[in-house]
Amino acid sequence: MFVYDLFFYAKDDAEKFDLALSDYFCALSGNNQIIMETLNISGNETERVARVTVPYEDSPDEKYDSPYTKRALERLSAYLKKPIERRFVGEDFTYRDDFSTGTASDFYVLRIHLHLKDISPICCGHTAEHIPYYLLPALSEETAEALRSWEVNYAAYDQLFYATGIGEISAHKMLSRMSSELNRDGLSVCRMLEKELQKPVYYYLYRYYGKQPSKCPVCKGDWKQPDGSLFDYKCDHCKIVAHKTSNES
Ligand SMILES: [Zn+2]
Repeated sequence: MFVYDLFFYAKDDAEKFDLALSDYFCALSGNNQIIMETLNISGNETERVARVTVPYEDSPDEKYDSPYTKRALERLSAYLKKPIERRFVGEDFTYRDDFSTGTASDFYVLRIHLHLKDISPICCGHTAEHIPYYLLPALSEETAEALRSWEVNYAAYDQLFYATGIGEISAHKMLSRMSSELNRDGLSVCRMLEKELQKPVYYYLYRYYGKQPSKCPVCKGDWKQPDGSLFDYKCDHCKIVAHKTSNES
């Protein structure tokens, strides 16, 4: 990942300028052109300097702007005295560099990012790295909404599981059983996604306790992969992938 400083010079109305600036960053983050968690804004009465971390060097380029980013930039521009200036700072060493363009993969994997909440949960099938939204075909509102809804629910159970409190075991069942409402919902989101992304989308089945089933949990077919495979389990019929747990040799 890479770091830039973006310079914004306001005309006069700082309050509306800040609101428009906030909308602009939300739009950039929603398109994965910046990483929201890393955003730092400083400045004075009429100037703002935003330090942003981005997946690739050209991620902030306007050619990747979504319709939402374009509209947010239009609204923001009304409050700007001059165009936004951009200065390259350097490579980012804070976060793990786990992005992919996905162009080399013949399938995708649906799996939420463990730490960055706005990052696309659509991963490259050959590297398991996340593909920024702006490098993927734009999703319909219906599919984007279904994806977001599944992602929010998944993150909630994930958090409940990692909190290791009273909800840990029930959250683990929800995350690890293919028959759970959460995972069935995720599988149906995969089917919606692949129609629009033009590549098969596999569902990532998480498990921490116990062992993964020896046969595919849906069709009962063989799904164990050769040693050294990126995913230890993969069913091409049901389009599910998984890793073995620490209890499996
Ligand atoms: Zn199967």
